[in-house]
Amino acid sequence: MTATAAPSPILPGATIGFLGGGQLGRMTAFAARSMGYDIQVLDPEAACATRPVASRTITATYDDVEAAISLASECDVVTLEIEQIHPDVLDAVAARCALRPGREPVYIIQDRIRQKQWLAAQGFPLGRFVAATRASDIADAVSTFGPCIAKSTHGGYDGRGQVRLREAAQGAEAWDALGARACLVEQMVDIHYEISVLVARSPSGAVAVYPPSRNHHTSGVLTWAVVPAVISDAMTVRAQSLAKAVAERIGIVGLLAVECFVTTAGELLVNELAPRPHNTYHHSERGVATSQFEQLVRAICDLPLGATDVFAPSAIANLLGDVWLQDTAPNTSHALAIPGTRLHLYGKAGARAGRKMGHLSAIGTDAQDALGRVLESYRRLSPGTVASFDVHEPVLAHVTS
Ligand code: ADP
Ligand code: MG
Repeated sequence: MTATAAPSPILPGATIGFLGGGQLGRMTAFAARSMGYDIQVLDPEAACATRPVASRTITATYDDVEAAISLASECDVVTLEIEQIHPDVLDAVAARCALRPGREPVYIIQDRIRQKQWLAAQGFPLGRFVAATRASDIADAVSTFGPCIAKSTHGGYDGRGQVRLREAAQGAEAWDALGARACLVEQMVDIHYEISVLVARSPSGAVAVYPPSRNHHTSGVLTWAVVPAVISDAMTVRAQSLAKAVAERIGIVGLLAVECFVTTAGELLVNELAPRPHNTYHHSERGVATSQFEQLVRAICDLPLGATDVFAPSAIANLLGDVWLQDTAPNTSHALAIPGTRLHLYGKAGARAGRKMGHLSAIGTDAQDALGRVLESYRRLSPGTVASFDVHEPVLAHVTS
């Protein structure tokens, strides 16, 4: 038998580099700091959210190979909080230190068409879609599928870079709105509810799967998320085994979030993938044995993965810049008077409509209670934005399929 060298973990005291220094980098950096790691970050914005947690901040764009080499030269492992990193940068980093996740999964995921085609080629369940290379392709898709959603291949997030269409005649306008370049066109799915499943995988192939999160979006942006998802055990098992299969097939090292739709017909479809911490698992910091942020650190440092048991039902509600653009300031004291709530702010200077500035979290006796608390806290914090965000409390127990 050939002996293979035991993989050596990257131990506390080492330095973790982050490509991207937004809120996901910041919260992961907090977790890494708690465990005794040093942090460096590269981000296009000098005042990025991770800066206060990092020993060194490099201000550069995600296609700046020299800057990435500078980051890698002082790090033991580099990870990322955004998938839009130029492949040359990924290669340059990987040549100098451990890059986790590696180039391949990030390359597949960073282009929506490439990602969907990869998922289709692997046989994972998807809604109907086409890759459009001209305006008439969009119109044809709407003629064939009915109402559609066209998505730019790169850079779209929080519902940005998307156009919803009802009629073929809107194809040309959608094509122009998305920059007159190749885009993904998907049939509008008849969504019963949305869930996501987070999977952590370490270099040795160890896997930890999180309980599904139930998620609600308003105009393409996440409004709230809750765990447990209050879905049937059968759907939980289906979703977890689907997400695990995707994570293993794509070879992720780190975290993979698999966003799913459950249709009114009871189908489970993959919506999209994210090779990093995910907004729908911020509640893992409150209610799961190992937060997604600590889990990412464990995975990329090849430490044992942490337990993913729910120890308290927990929920989050996002705080967009709109909250700070009202006539009256957010009522923090009133909001935090709800027992079990916590306020998380990302330290971003400029509040803009739609920009993620922070979130509220809550734990409760069950999912309904946790969600009720976080949404009540939200309504107290920002009564002025209640009309534009869907923060009424749904009855979770009705979702059983
Ligand atoms: P983003 O990168 O902005 O999260 P998504 O593709 O996940 O992009 O779209 C955001 C949200 O828009 C989804 O969570 C869902 O609520 C809605 N959406 C996206 N694609 C579809 C679709 N094909 N059918 C119905 N709703 C969709
Ligand atoms: Mg999404």
